[in-house]
Amino acid sequence: MKRMLLLGGVTEALAIARTLGPEHIYSLAGVGRVPTDLTCQVRVGGYGGAEGLAQFIRDEGIELLLDATHPYAAQISQNAATAAQMSGIPCWALRRPAWQPQAGDDWREVSDWAELIEALKPFRRPLFTLGREPLQHLHEIPPEQFWTLRALDVYPGNERCEVIGARGPFVIEEERDLFERRQIDVLISKNSGSTATEPKLEVARERGVPVLVLKRPVLARVDREFELVDEVLAALAECNMTDA
Ligand code: NAP
Repeated sequence: MKRMLLLGGVTEALAIARTLGPEHIYSLAGVGRVPTDLTCQVRVGGYGGAEGLAQFIRDEGIELLLDATHPYAAQISQNAATAAQMSGIPCWALRRPAWQPQAGDDWREVSDWAELIEALKPFRRPLFTLGREPLQHLHEIPPEQFWTLRALDVYPGNERCEVIGARGPFVIEEERDLFERRQIDVLISKNSGSTATEPKLEVARERGVPVLVLKRPVLARVDREFELVDEVLAALAECNMTDA
């Protein structure tokens, strides 16, 4: 039986991990919840870069590396591709397709924080859904703006920013309520492509609220790339990695 190391951190990775037997390892960075009901092994924490990951692959006799991390987790994806190459094993990746703008959307792409701050200037009440990064910039909020920042957990805000702790999936009624209650006039989002966080885009469209979309990073090239969990499971079954 072959042995796989699955790099996770998103819903689809957990769905794959649920199909794996005890010889396989599901690897998490340790920033989110750690499942306790899996048959496969679960490893939590980083490897110390690509070399550390390559060492782990050799020590554990891993024969396939599957990168099912978030599309914005560019560092671990690069490390995965490099470590697989260093260890002479294949690297596959599950990469969610990006959301596409629809009729009525006003999306404005930004590449980094500096571009984002510039694009934010005409607005007063932004809703940030980028994770924790904006927390480092709370002292830079201009006096005419009031920020709402949604992250996985609650953190201290300040007089110009309220931080909400919430985990998806989000439902449209609650997203409508959030936009209305806080009078959101611009949404800031990654293009994660996840159905769990998509309702905010629908509400922005309904209300004519512009969306500043943080550009997706360019990810390392891998041996095989998949868009859907079922495609991965079929490929794993073909090479005797799962029972799917
Ligand atoms: P990142 O910048 O690409 O990775 C930072 C470091 O975290 C990596 O160099 C690695 O440390 C460690 N790491 C990341 N994923 C790991 C995994 N699955 N197993 C073991 N170590 C891992 O990633 P990030 O953007 O901080 O995201 C961290 C994790 O959260 C990822 O697993 C990702 O799938 C998940 N996540 C990210 C986002 C997002 O928006 N970025 C959203 C939802 C979930 P070493 O170099 O020490 O090995």
